[in-house]
Formats: sequence, structure tokens, C-alpha cells
Amino acid sequence: MGRWWWAALLRRPQAGPAGSRGRLRAGPMAKERQELVLREWAALLEQLRRVATARVADAGDALRAGELAPPPGSHAERDYLWALEAYEAAGRLLDDAADLPDLAAAVVLAERAVERLEAAHARLAGQRPPAAKRRCSYNPLHAPARREQKQDGRRGRRARFGPREAAAERWPACESCHRDLLAGRPPDVLPALVRVRVSRRRTAPVLVPYLAVPRQFSPWAASACGAYGDAVPGFVLRGGHRREARP
Ligand SMILES: [Zn+2]
Repeated sequence: MGRWWWAALLRRPQAGPAGSRGRLRAGPMAKERQELVLREWAALLEQLRRVATARVADAGDALRAGELAPPPGSHAERDYLWALEAYEAAGRLLDDAADLPDLAAAVVLAERAVERLEAAHARLAGQRPPAAKRRCSYNPLHAPARREQKQDGRRGRRARFGPREAAAERWPACESCHRDLLAGRPPDVLPALVRVRVSRRRTAPVLVPYLAVPRQFSPWAASACGAYGDAVPGFVLRGGHRREARP
């Protein structure tokens, strides 16, 4: 499923306004730059909304076509109910989305709903469910994360496992983000729009890595936009994703 468009799409805004707070503060270009940030953000939001809408529709089709009545209390039932909940949560996020990570989470939950439905079907057929996809924590819309690299304890291996390698292995990362981390470059992280104070009265819009947004403003860093953990659909259905619902 084409997640590959994302990396190219984000390169410009990532390289531009993110982290450019100093430049926003002064100079005749400040207003123009702010407008550029908002225009680029709006274009990304629109593109991602189209992708998310399609993924949620696909998940709805899959759930309708694969309707199940698994035995109560079975693993298959748990998977199936989770799939239904994740689909509903993805739809809710689509309706409520205020920023890029909300829509990324809608994509992730819609895809995970289909994965979990497939797992329920496999269990009912007496098969082992397929392994869940590992998503890139830096941007869950990237290519899938690399498989975990275990240190094998071979002689000499430990010496090569320096701070960069440790950083690269800290969270699941796609090949591209992993390469960036190994090279000491910042990975291509999903951006979020925040407003930073540039004077006593004024704020300016800035795109920052979603992982850097404090939890009181965005819940998505902890679960990589719903890619990890099973609590996110319930959290969304209780309204926890809404900014005004958080303390
Ligand atoms: Zn990545």
C-alpha cells in the first residue's frame, strides 16, 4: 500500500521552516515565511486527508466483506472487536483531524483494523495470525520499520555499537530513517503545526517534528500515531485525542 509518496512530499517543509524560529522573529520576510508555512501545511493536510479517507473506506469494505461471528471470549473475537473499534476510531479521527498527526493516526488505525481482521480470520481457520507490521516511529507513514537487530554477542560486535547505533536502534525505524540516524542526520520526522511565541503579543506557525510536541498538545508521540499499543482506539473513542479534552 503506497506509503512511499510521503518522504518526497515532506522534504521541503522539513528543510524549510522547521526549527527556523530565529528567522521568523525578524526581517521583512517573516510574514511571507509564515504564510508559506501555512500554505505548505494546508497542502499536506489536504493530501493526507485524501489518503486517510481512502484507507478508512478500504477498511470499511474489508470489515463488511469479512464479517465474523467468532466464539465469545476467543482470541479471534478479541481481534475482531479490536478491528471494529480501530475502524470506528479511524473514522472519528478523520472527522476531527486538526493536524497532520491526527490524519496519520487515522491511516494507521484503518490499516491496523484490516490487519487485525485478517488475524481473526486466521485464528478461526486454525492458522497462526500473520505478524503485525512494525511501523517507522519517526513517521508511521514511511516504509515499514526494519526488523529488530539483536546484538549477537559475537566478538568485536560490541565495539561497533556506539551512541549513533544505539540511537538508531532505540525505536523502530524504516531503512531511510535508520540510515539518517546512523549518519548523525535528523530523520525525516512527520511534522506537526505548532504556534511559537515570537513576541509578547504575537505567535508564529512552525512545523516541528511530531515527536517533539508536548503531550498536553498532542497525544501522538507516545504511540507513534497509534502504531504501537492497543489502547489507542478506546482512547480516541472516549475523545482523548481532542485538544480541549486534555488537561
Ligand atoms: Zn522512517
